[in-house]
Amino acid sequence: MTRYIFITGGVVSSLGKGLGSAALGALLQARGYKVRLCKLDPYLNVDPGTMSPFQHGEVYVTDDGAETDLDLGHYERFTGVPARKNDNITTGQVYTEVLSKERKGDYLGATIQVIPHITNEIKDFIHEKEGTADFVLCEIGGTVGDIESLPFLEAIRQFGNEVGADRALYIHVTLLPYIPAAGELKTKPTQHSVKELMSYGIRPQILLCRADREIAQDERDKIALFCNIAKDKVIPALDVSTIYEVPLSYHGEGLDHQVMDSFGIKDIANLDLSIWERIVRRVKEPEGKVKIAIVGKYTNLADSYKSLNEALVHGGIANKIEVELKFFEGEDFEGDVDLAQHLQGVHGILVPGGFGKRGTEGKIKAVQYAREKKIPYFGICLGMQMAIIEAARNLCGIEDATSSELNDGGEHIVGLMTEWEQDGKKQAGTDKDLGGTMRVGAYPAKLTEGSRIAEIYGSADISERHRHRYEVNINYKDKLEEQGCVFSGLSPDGELPETMERIDHPWFIGVQYHPELKSKPFDPHPLFVSFIKAAVEQSRLV
Ligand code: GLN
Repeated sequence: MTRYIFITGGVVSSLGKGLGSAALGALLQARGYKVRLCKLDPYLNVDPGTMSPFQHGEVYVTDDGAETDLDLGHYERFTGVPARKNDNITTGQVYTEVLSKERKGDYLGATIQVIPHITNEIKDFIHEKEGTADFVLCEIGGTVGDIESLPFLEAIRQFGNEVGADRALYIHVTLLPYIPAAGELKTKPTQHSVKELMSYGIRPQILLCRADREIAQDERDKIALFCNIAKDKVIPALDVSTIYEVPLSYHGEGLDHQVMDSFGIKDIANLDLSIWERIVRRVKEPEGKVKIAIVGKYTNLADSYKSLNEALVHGGIANKIEVELKFFEGEDFEGDVDLAQHLQGVHGILVPGGFGKRGTEGKIKAVQYAREKKIPYFGICLGMQMAIIEAARNLCGIEDATSSELNDGGEHIVGLMTEWEQDGKKQAGTDKDLGGTMRVGAYPAKLTEGSRIAEIYGSADISERHRHRYEVNINYKDKLEEQGCVFSGLSPDGELPETMERIDHPWFIGVQYHPELKSKPFDPHPLFVSFIKAAVEQSRLV
């Protein structure tokens, strides 16, 4: 029997609901249950693929090719369950679906309304998860009180009513702000938020209270009294120094126990949290430290490189090393700038995925610096394309080498995936819609036996998640390889360069895909493990 846990948020956004849901998922797994996590997003975009990483953080890509919310990344990192396309739905998708059914006449001329048509569509999305897990955890994006959230709240209210109270649980995540003048944590915003939720007919049974300090028992009692919640179910969710401590912290406050209790499950499972204890120990007690420079474009919003940051931490966990990230804007390296001033003392340089021209010349300079100074270099997606363009310009003598994404003129070493073949086999990408025109999702690649990358993976056959429109022109393979820039991995048909590595460098690898998306703290991605190991070796040199 599948049980459903709905997680809503109150008071403010950015409370870490996604992380909280993921951590609860991990705790239920530790009790031996099968979990599935999904997210209902109230915004109108059809998918987050075209949303600015500045506003919304990174776009998380699933194996089955969906561009989804970054919370799905948290879910996967904490539970190891691969996220899927139908783990995320937005208002835009719901309306698109309902309107297309209306156009097809599926509603037989009925008046189409938010209730029941929109809410039914949302409930169908949740119902689809039936039987796939013991617990389905369903996070509702946004904050209670937002206009956009209303249909979702109404849908989960109906859902709980339909499946019965013994199969549905509502957890509300709120904030207790600390007011220095009063010297206390304030409970009023939480009271209002619960009241608002109750006005929609949803009575939360558990409150997860975010706070930056201990919540005194009398404050917890007060919340219980005013919010009509059992005292034991007012659970402090205090700030912790590493996100991987969240499952342990919630467990310490009794969250998983209270979830069992709310469902009336007499579970005496002796849960094993040793993997989380080991991870936290490694993060908190490293044996050394390396500095990694990330030369990107969206560097002033930490969430825009969420999975990447975490994958680097995972590489550190595997090496018992703290990884300090230093973010640089590619643009700041352009013109007459001495990169040594910025990059001196870093032990590894990484150019992550990105789109558009801004900052790319600076990224190419960073590649050159890493290559010449023999500093470990990791190029991801755009970062691999930058590495190829750098080699073409500075080693192959193609001075105007570029990508057609960046420049209409010049020699296009990198170009739109469909541009290469003029013989009619593939058509140039003429689709004017920006959504859905990329190569997104898991694709296999074949690595050359004996290459460094095959050695790192321990296998020649890999599958990784992609998100790109452009590719390196395979026709330049021989020219680049003569200069030590080896195409060590290709698509199985041998047409699309998937990885490159330099044979004259301690660690210089570019990949056309996003390995960071599959890295987990308990299963760090081999490329990140190897990159951080190379950075550790570099740190011993300087
Ligand atoms: N903009 C490049 C492309 O579309 C790289 C994409 C990326 O880095 N994810 O191919």
